Amino acid sequence: MDQVEPDPSKKTLVVLGTGWGSVSLLKNLDTENYNVVVVSPRNYFLFTPLLPSCTTGLIEHRSIMEPIRNFLRHKKAAVKYYEAEATKIDYEKKIVYVNDESEIKGDVSSTEVPFDMLVVGVGAENATFGIPGVREHGLFLKEVGDAQAIRRRIMDCCETATFKDQHEDEIKRLLHMVVVGGGPTGVEFAGELQDFFESDLKKWIPDIKDNFHVTLVEALPNVLPMFSKQLIDYTEKTFKEETITIRTKTMVKKVTAKYIEAESTGPDGKKQLEQIPYGLLVWATGNALRPVVKDLMSQIPAQKDSRRGLAVNEYLVVKGTENIWAVGDCAIANYAPTAQVASQEGAFLARMFNQMAKTQEIESKLAECSEAQEKAPSKEARDRVFQEIKELQKRLRRVKQIGPFEYSHQGSLAYIGSEKAVADITWLTGNLSTGGTLTYFFWRSAYLSMCFSTRNRVLVLMDWCKAKLFGRDVSRE
Ligand code: FAD
Ligand code: NAD
Repeated sequence: MDQVEPDPSKKTLVVLGTGWGSVSLLKNLDTENYNVVVVSPRNYFLFTPLLPSCTTGLIEHRSIMEPIRNFLRHKKAAVKYYEAEATKIDYEKKIVYVNDESEIKGDVSSTEVPFDMLVVGVGAENATFGIPGVREHGLFLKEVGDAQAIRRRIMDCCETATFKDQHEDEIKRLLHMVVVGGGPTGVEFAGELQDFFESDLKKWIPDIKDNFHVTLVEALPNVLPMFSKQLIDYTEKTFKEETITIRTKTMVKKVTAKYIEAESTGPDGKKQLEQIPYGLLVWATGNALRPVVKDLMSQIPAQKDSRRGLAVNEYLVVKGTENIWAVGDCAIANYAPTAQVASQEGAFLARMFNQMAKTQEIESKLAECSEAQEKAPSKEARDRVFQEIKELQKRLRRVKQIGPFEYSHQGSLAYIGSEKAVADITWLTGNLSTGGTLTYFFWRSAYLSMCFSTRNRVLVLMDWCKAKLFGRDVSRE
C-alpha cells in the first residue's frame, strides 16, 4: 500500500474515532472507493471488554491494544490517519476542525479537514451528572490511562495503609475501595478487584487482610439492570459470598478527597444522608455526550429534541443531514451503548458505502451506454448496447436493495468475580440465562475469540497463564 495523494475523482470520507464503531467500519470498507481520512486522538483500537482486567494487572494493557497504523496498512488503498481530536464539525461548510492534543506539537497543531462524507464515531465521555468533586477525586474506567491510574492507586492505598504508625481509622479508610455505579463496568471492576485481593494482595501484604473491603454503590434498587432478574439475584448472592458490599438505593451526591456523601433510602422509604470514607473511588455511572457532538447537534435544527446523542435514521444518517452518519455510543438508534451495537453499526455502514460506490459506478456506466446507444452506427450495435443497459439496470436494482440497519443481539455477558460470570444469551428461538463457573469459561472463550487480532489473543492468553503461575504483579511503577 503506497502513500498516495487524494484522488480528485473520488469522494473524501472522513471517519472520526478509532473505537468499536469506526474500526468495524474501516475493517469492512473497500477503501479503493473513497479518499479515506481517519482522525482520532487514540492511535490504537482498544478492546474495552477486557479493560477491567487491566486495573489489577491480570491483563497487561498492551495486550488489548491494536495499533491503528498496523491495521490500516493492510487496507487495499491508502488511508490517511491524523492523530488529533476533532474540536468542531462545521456541517454547512463540510469541514472538521482538528487539534493535535499530544505532548509534542509541531508548528502546525490545529487545522481543517474537509469532507464529502463524514462518519462520527467519537464514543462518549464519563457521566458525572455535575456531582461536585467527582472529576477531582474519582477515577474513571474508560481508557487505558484510567486502568493504569486505578492500578497505581490500589497499590498506593495498600502501601500507605501499611505505613509505620498509621492510625486504625485511616487504615480502614485507605483500604475501603468504593465503586459508584452498579452497571456492568462497576460490577466487573468490583469483581476483578476482589479477585486481586483474594488471590494476590492478601498473600503478599498480609497486614491489609482484615481491613481491605470493596463496596459497590448503586442508586437503583438493584445492580445490572439490563440482565434478567435471576442473574441479578445470582450476582448479588455471589458478591455477598465474595464479601463485596452492595449498597443499592444509594445515590452519591458529593465527593470529597476522603469521603463520599450519599443519600440512601431505607426499607421504610426514609432518606438518610451519610458520609462513606474511601481510599480508592472508581466512578462508573455511564456515558455523557462529548462536546464536539453537543456542538454538532446545536447546529442542526432536527437534533433539537435529542438529549443523549446524535439522533440517526434507520440508515444511521444523522437526522437533518445528508452526508453525516453516526455510529456507536455517540449515536442514538434505540439500542444500548455497547461494543456489540457499535461494531454492527460500523459493519453496516461499510456495506452501505461499498454499495453506494458500486451504484455510482453502474450509474456512470449507464450514462456512457445511453450516449453510445444514441451514437450507435447500426441496429446491431444499438441492440448490443441495449442489452448491456438492461444488464446494468438489473445490477443497479440489486445493488440498491440494501435494507435498513437491523441490530442482532447476541446476548449480554459480564464477569462477576471468583471465576464466575453471568450471561443472557439469545439462543436459537429463545433466551438463555446462565451464571457460574461454566459461564465464566464461556465468557473467557467468547472474549478471546472476539479480540481484534491473533496477536491480541496470544498476548491475552499469555497474561492469563502468567497470572495463574506467578500471580499478578503488585509493583507500582
Ligand atoms: P469508543 O470505542 O469509545 O471509541 C471512540 C473513539 O473516538 C476513540 O478512538 C476515541 O479516542 C475517539 N475520540 C474521542 N473524542 C474524539 C474527538 N473529539 N475526535 C476524534 N476522535 C475522538 N460493550 C460490550 O458490548 N461488551 C462488553 O463487554 C463491554 N465492556 C466494556 C467495559 C468497559 C470498561 C467499558 C468502558 C465499556 C465496555 N463496553 C462493552 C461498552 C463499549 O466499550 C462501548 O459501547 C464501545 O466502546 C462504543 O464504541 P464507540 O466506537 O462508539 O466508542
Ligand atoms: P451504566 O449506565 O450501565 O450504569 C451506570 C449505573 O450507575 C446505573 O445503574 C446508575 O443507576 C448508576 N448511577 C448513576 N449515578 C449514580 C449516583 N450518583 N450514585 C450511585 N449510582 C449512580 O454504565 P456502565 O456500567 O459504565 O456501562 C456503560 C455502557 O457500556 C452500558 O451500555 C453497558 O451495557 C456497556 N458495558 C457493557 C459491559 C458488558 O457487556 N459486560 C461492560 C461494561 C459496559
